[in-house]
Amino acid sequence: MAWAKFFRKPGGNLGRVYQPGSMLSLAPTKGLLNEPGQNSCFLNSAVQVLWQLDIFRRSLRQLPNHYCLGEACIFCALKGIFSQFQDSRERALPSDNLRIALAETFKDEQRFQLGFMDDAAECFENILERIHLHIAPDVDTDACTSKVCITHQKFAMTLYEQAVCRSCGASSDPLPFTQLVNYVSTTALCQQFFERKDEKPRSDMFGELLQAAGTIGDLRDCPVGDLVCGSCFT
Ligand SMILES: [Zn+2]
Ligand SMILES: [Zn+2]
Ligand SMILES: [Zn+2]
Repeated sequence: MAWAKFFRKPGGNLGRVYQPGSMLSLAPTKGLLNEPGQNSCFLNSAVQVLWQLDIFRRSLRQLPNHYCLGEACIFCALKGIFSQFQDSRERALPSDNLRIALAETFKDEQRFQLGFMDDAAECFENILERIHLHIAPDVDTDACTSKVCITHQKFAMTLYEQAVCRSCGASSDPLPFTQLVNYVSTTALCQQFFERKDEKPRSDMFGELLQAAGTIGDLRDCPVGDLVCGSCFT
């Protein structure tokens, strides 16, 4: 059986959006402190990624209002770190306020608790989800069209998953869904690049590599069924 799964973004594709060289950030770089026992590296790396994304940093700065949760406000704590990144003369800054706000927010789920290690990618995604709640708390996360919600305006992708049989060409009904982060294994991405290293580089190639790497090992039955598509069995 030979299978391909396609991710499609309506009205465009990654290749057209991605411009080589445009990812260079002009933000000043500072470190974040991680004292022994704090285990804040997962949070610090998520904060560094958000800070280095120009579109996120600028959008956060321009937001006038949010639904504030006081001591446990992830939004305020993140804004606080960002203004210190901008103005402080220190080379390394504490991320304690955000660490405390994160622990308080997720205490019922026992996630991101003080002193405990956690997952950086999940932390990144959860911070984005919390920012949506601080900006548009009454709107369901899958239906958010708020113009000021950085999370959904800048990160949410509406994708279509569709299986296409490489033997008979039959395709399944497209399954639309929304996601903030698309997880792709670096090893799979490198492997795809290596297999196509002799091809002439094109601007949309990175999107194709992401798509191919994201569907490696995804084996499914032909959508028209085994009886119709005998050629699937090779
Ligand atoms: Zn707040
Ligand atoms: Zn939103
Ligand atoms: Zn088939």
